[in-house]
Amino acid sequence: MNTSWWRNVTHFTAKEFACPETGEALVSCDLVVMLDKARTFAATPFTITSGYRSPAHNRKVGGVPGSAHTKGLAADIAAPNNEARHDIVRGLIEAGCVRIGIGKGFVHADVDLDKPWPRLWTY
Ligand SMILES: [Zn+2]
Repeated sequence: MNTSWWRNVTHFTAKEFACPETGEALVSCDLVVMLDKARTFAATPFTITSGYRSPAHNRKVGGVPGSAHTKGLAADIAAPNNEARHDIVRGLIEAGCVRIGIGKGFVHADVDLDKPWPRLWTY
């Protein structure tokens, strides 16, 4: 897998997207470049709480089967308060993200366009 595109990423390292079980960070360039733009627009920290998930890890954390996380197309971003949540969602929308989920304490963003879009959902 070509990972040389990471050198152009400003705000993130591959480690932040690694599966806690396998250590693999099999995330797509499209996802990370979108998040990098969103982080710039949001001007607030993006702490990745879940990036790539191996299928086994996805089952363990109760992810839906076929989750965009298992395809390296999704990340969850910590949203510790209402202001941060607003800024994160604004940044994502400005960066062109068309699939956003709002959870308690996190925002899910993905670029899995095989799934319906545009979508903004709650958990
Ligand atoms: Zn997620």
